[in-house]
Amino acid sequence: MLDKVVIANRGEIALRILRACRELGIRTVAVHSTVDRELKHVRLADETVCIGPPPAADSYLNMPAIISAAEVTDAVAIHPGYGFLSENADFAERVEQSGFIFIGPKPETIRLMGDKVSAIRAMQEAGVPCVPGSDGPLGDDAQEIQRIAHQIGYPIIIKASGGGGGRGMRVVHSEAALLTTLDLTRSEAGAAFGNATVYMEKYLEHPRHIEVQVLADTHGHAIHLGERDCSMQRRHQKVIEEAPAPGISPEQRRRIGQVCVDACQRIGYRGAGTFEFLYQDGEFYFIEMNTRVQVEHPVTELITGVDIVKEQLRIAAGLPLDYRQTDIRISGHALECRLNAEDPESFAPSPGTISQYHPPGGPGIRVDSHLYNGYRVPPNYDSMIGKLIAHGETREVAIARMRGALVELVIEGIKTNAPLHRRILGDARFLNGGADIHYLEKQLLESR
Ligand code: ADP
Repeated sequence: MLDKVVIANRGEIALRILRACRELGIRTVAVHSTVDRELKHVRLADETVCIGPPPAADSYLNMPAIISAAEVTDAVAIHPGYGFLSENADFAERVEQSGFIFIGPKPETIRLMGDKVSAIRAMQEAGVPCVPGSDGPLGDDAQEIQRIAHQIGYPIIIKASGGGGGRGMRVVHSEAALLTTLDLTRSEAGAAFGNATVYMEKYLEHPRHIEVQVLADTHGHAIHLGERDCSMQRRHQKVIEEAPAPGISPEQRRRIGQVCVDACQRIGYRGAGTFEFLYQDGEFYFIEMNTRVQVEHPVTELITGVDIVKEQLRIAAGLPLDYRQTDIRISGHALECRLNAEDPESFAPSPGTISQYHPPGGPGIRVDSHLYNGYRVPPNYDSMIGKLIAHGETREVAIARMRGALVELVIEGIKTNAPLHRRILGDARFLNGGADIHYLEKQLLESR
């Protein structure tokens, strides 16, 4: 097993990684910014290294500082968590060149999947169903572009190959707006991502977001852990996730899961990963792959019993997967509510000191959070302060437990989005299951 791991992240995921390390007998190094000295995992880690001032660019994105922290502490590996440097191929490369293990896929895989055009091409070659589109970057020939759009059929979406985080895409409803929107997306993409390459896809009007979790070791084995439904989104940010996805049959799961496993083998994937799909009218359409652990991994852990972070560490240590596909059984249903330090009405961030914190408990409840009484949520980072996760024999039981957890939860001193979760969990369309990605923002939040 790995001897010592640098946790190159903060907040709940840093604590999650620390817990997995502890279970496996791995020593931990918490790297943190000056404003994060009081983080829970920093207090619990075997060693700590301050890597810079609060701005992420100077600390959690500071590659030389993180790599020197690994050097001075004699660590063997770096776990990037999610966000920050987790999908930065240059970082993964520098980590490996410095003689450390990057806990994630090979740098070239991250690079391949980080560019949407190359990712889609690789997936098409691997037999993964993709959204009908331009088959590569759009050129300069206006007539040709109009022809492609006409052939795909409006509405279409123009997407930046280097885009991410829901930025760098625009929907076009008719030919009149096509070329101006294309120019705009191109110049924005050039400015924002340093890459003006754009491509075109059919715009799906009422899809769900369904994603498949995979694990692949360095011995050529890959498995899938079924799917998650993350359709409850606001501004392309997931708000509630669940597993399994309502209405997906075991046969559909088996088929799409196998497609992802085959793709992993074909591209020589390593570690934990997620294939994101839009799902509409019974069909899956690949949109992107995330080459890291995801925020919503716990719902999959609860229905499969597989500890995804422990598997990441085992894979990085060169061990074979603990499971074969036939060992994976879906048991019950799980939901996750992301808790944000924000105003539940305006969604404005609400940093500050936690004066009271009472996490919920009881059967089937898991809380992944770094909060404690007196902790000060700094204004410098993402507003997520934790996740409530509920598991039950059925979706109804999981929902009932989550409702109870949301009643029990007390967080005082800052505002949180818990009222929004209470509202969603009382909504008839949500309770039915299978709402599309626009439902929360376009209907539920509009209806007051
Ligand atoms: P990002 O890397 O920025 O997250 P994605 O390609 O994953 O970009 O797309 C983000 C979101 O944009 C999707 O979850 C979906 O809501 C919307 N989207 C992307 N492509 C399409 C499409 N072809 N049709 C409809 N919606 C889309």
